[in-house]
Amino acid sequence: MGKALRPYTTYSTLLIAFMVAVSAVAAAYSGEISLREVASELNAEIRYDPFLELGRIQHAGYAVRFAVGSDEMRTDDGTVISVTPPRSNDGSVYIDKSTAEQLKAIWRPTATDRDEPFVSAVVIDPGHGGRDPGTIGRHVIDGEQLVLREKDIVLDVSLHLRDLLRESFDDRRVILTREDDRYLPLDARTDMANDLPLGENEYVVYVSVHANASLNTRATGFEAWFIPPEQRRTLIDPEDLDADRRRIHAILNSMREEEVSVHSAMLGNEILSGLEQTVGELSPNRGLKQENWAVVRNALMPSVLVELGFVTNANEAQLLADSEYLHKLAEGLYTGIRQFIDLLESPDSDGT
Ligand SMILES: [Zn+2]
Repeated sequence: MGKALRPYTTYSTLLIAFMVAVSAVAAAYSGEISLREVASELNAEIRYDPFLELGRIQHAGYAVRFAVGSDEMRTDDGTVISVTPPRSNDGSVYIDKSTAEQLKAIWRPTATDRDEPFVSAVVIDPGHGGRDPGTIGRHVIDGEQLVLREKDIVLDVSLHLRDLLRESFDDRRVILTREDDRYLPLDARTDMANDLPLGENEYVVYVSVHANASLNTRATGFEAWFIPPEQRRTLIDPEDLDADRRRIHAILNSMREEEVSVHSAMLGNEILSGLEQTVGELSPNRGLKQENWAVVRNALMPSVLVELGFVTNANEAQLLADSEYLHKLAEGLYTGIRQFIDLLESPDSDGT
């Protein structure tokens, strides 16, 4: 035979490559989309074990678990979503377009126009994280070293606060900007809140959680900060207005500035009184203050920055090292946020 025989394996490799190409094209035509593509659109993290054919998509403190071939996906708070079973192909997972829309809806409050004010999402932002420990308190108490890092304290409190809020809300999204020890730039934190689409009369509330430090080691107590009312910001994008309203953009924008400022002060006051109820006997209320902190400036909604206490004070540091005390702080924040929402949504209130 003059003809060289190609090894059989070359044919089979080519055949497999061809079949993969065909199935990718078929997927594209059958209304399927790769899960990876959906995750990247959501800016979500995806973990997939191709051996077990199980995985999770995670974003903004929320995770959804899926299994290839299963018609159910589960969120980490136990909600079951009925879906068309995901299919795996060559190590990738494909879902149909309607499942993709269901997934996207999980990270999006229902933007529907309402007659009454409605808070559709609460964004909790535990400050710092990862390579940024925040402020650090070092003490020696009874011969023992006590080292407190702000990033750990605020994460613990925020996780507990998230659980309390989720227990009491079934119609509002509760979003954490981080749910583990990771670094996040300031913009990424506020973008999570600013990017949530809102209908008429719908609100998002933003609470950034921090712990304090002072050169004066006697300083103790909790406080809340909001943006000074005179701070000028663009809260309404002229591009979002029709031509008629665009002409009065400056007026509409300053009305919104006024409203956001009043709501932020209300939110701060309610949070302080919530904290006073749960830890007031142990830590003083330092009051509501104004400062142009980046996170409250960049959050285009009612927002406050809460300082839970001073890691630099030996007594308060011992409180902040106690998980029971951190739970009390979370309960105080919860009570304040809940009270603010009730005020904002009460029908006899004009929202101010
Ligand atoms: Zn901080």
